[in-house]
Amino acid sequence: MMSADVRDDAVFAGTLAELTWHEVERAARSGAVLLWAFGVIEQHGPHLPTGTDVYLPGARLRAVRALLAERGVEALIMPPYYWGVNVVSGAFPASYGVRPELMREVMADLLAGMARDGFRHVFCFSGHGDALHNRTVHDGIRAARERADVDASFVTEPALARRIGLDLDDPCLTLCGPDEPPPDGPPDVHAGHWETSLMMHTHPGLVREETRARLAPTGLGPRELAVWRRGHEHARRVTPDGYFGDPAAADAAEGRRLHADAAGHAADAIALRLRRTAPPTPNPGRRNNG
Ligand SMILES: [Zn+2]
Repeated sequence: MMSADVRDDAVFAGTLAELTWHEVERAARSGAVLLWAFGVIEQHGPHLPTGTDVYLPGARLRAVRALLAERGVEALIMPPYYWGVNVVSGAFPASYGVRPELMREVMADLLAGMARDGFRHVFCFSGHGDALHNRTVHDGIRAARERADVDASFVTEPALARRIGLDLDDPCLTLCGPDEPPPDGPPDVHAGHWETSLMMHTHPGLVREETRARLAPTGLGPRELAVWRRGHEHARRVTPDGYFGDPAAADAAEGRRLHADAAGHAADAIALRLRRTAPPTPNPGRRNNG
């Protein structure tokens, strides 16, 4: 097994928390955007760590930042938010959540602080599939946009936006990736094939490899998924081991591809929003020389 880069396992690695206030102020003045991930501490089966929904978006944001830099867009990464909303895993140990209204207010206060620093664009990501968590991310963004002068938005796939009941033209959304139906086959939604593949690529040292290889696919269908999504004891009954999908089929090379695709889609979507929301008087250089 490859050893994980210990720097990548530190939640502050590569984030604004490693900068001085002078460096942050300079970045805000030069028009840098912010990237911010919203995860949760939650059980992820017998083979993945409880911080999976924090580690994965952290790795994704570092990749997005590198892709944006190639396009001349400077981005800073906020330290991750990880006290989210937990309905589905709420009856398992090591799965913590806060009330949605608390998370919304914390988000609105912090986003207002970023606006006060002069950051105009904050791109929010979710690392956690729970519907109420994602509605709350959207709610916090909407509250911040009403109260502060900040173009905060939720970078997400159309399928998730639809699942949580949002219109795809919602101004709080930065849609990324293809708009396609879910893949055929049994649902794989939590600590299964895709999520485990990603962790095997980004944080191999945190995957319990011997356990993973022995896990049987859950083989559950859409009906069980609907029960599972009701959460708490329903989810614990449907998936007593805590995963929903096929972790033994996971593969690091596929994780690499999924990771690169997700980062590429997000960087494309961010670049598009920045072009669309560019102020009428942009850089003097660009305007006069154009
Ligand atoms: Zn997860």
